[in-house]
Amino acid sequence: MRIECVADTRCILGEGPLWDERGQCLYWVDIKAPAIWRLDPVSGETRSWIMPYRIGAIAMREKGGFVAAMKPGFAIIDLDSNSVEVISKPEKNLPDNRFNDGACDARGRFWAGTMDDMEAAPTGDLYRLDPDGNVKRFHAGFVITNGIRWTSDGKKLYFVDSASRTIWRHDFDLENGNPGPRRIFAKLTELDGWPDGLCVDAEDHVWGAHWGAGRVTRYRPDGSIERTLELPASNVTCCSFGGADFDTLYVTTARIGLSEGQLSLNPQSGGLFVVTGLGVRGTPAHRFGG
Ligand code: BGC
Ligand code: CA
Repeated sequence: MRIECVADTRCILGEGPLWDERGQCLYWVDIKAPAIWRLDPVSGETRSWIMPYRIGAIAMREKGGFVAAMKPGFAIIDLDSNSVEVISKPEKNLPDNRFNDGACDARGRFWAGTMDDMEAAPTGDLYRLDPDGNVKRFHAGFVITNGIRWTSDGKKLYFVDSASRTIWRHDFDLENGNPGPRRIFAKLTELDGWPDGLCVDAEDHVWGAHWGAGRVTRYRPDGSIERTLELPASNVTCCSFGGADFDTLYVTTARIGLSEGQLSLNPQSGGLFVVTGLGVRGTPAHRFGG
């Protein structure tokens, strides 16, 4: 196993690694720059696009380009023409909130959660953007929503309440797109930091990032811990598989909230890391159908 920083981008709040198997490259966001980043792992070349609003999450569209969850709401982004079009503002009444993590389900719906940008008020909810543009809200009442991903059969949803250190596992009705009853999948302690983004691998194990603990944990489907990885950056935000064979784990990190001392100890904080030699594969991300 080998862990290395492949893009020393010093992101303020790097998040959401997303492998594009059509373009064979890795996209991620810096929520607070705000920017979208891209890495071509073959050439090692990185590129970024400055965004007009804070950008919590992106997903690829079937038609090309991206759907995004941004500060004002859901948006359609085309990087070639540099256009960002906000299509829905579900939280016009909550000016202190912003969108955070998000992803598409197996039916091409885009899901994203919101949060209080000051991380104090329990105003974070979960939203579903359907391919026809319809938006539905699901009440969560979390301070920080995170980790919206599904099992490979699409029938369970992992949804993270970072502030209470809880990873929830919901039943999920894939046909109708509704989350059902939930149970606690994992509950972290103070020593574990806070659960942030996660991904589900081809064996239906969950890889969860630990904000404030420099770690990624691989959980078995029953929530027990299978292994942990230590990273040279404290605020680990999210991870996802990619690469030509889907066997590389890409891990995003953040610089925000770290002291000068922590930054000099881990100067590559905010960079994009890769973990190879894990002997595990991921699966392609679902695309937005609209
Ligand atoms: C949020 C950060 C937050 C962190 C805590 C991230 O997804 O964007 O603002 O501090 O989660 O885990
Ligand atoms: Ca996150």
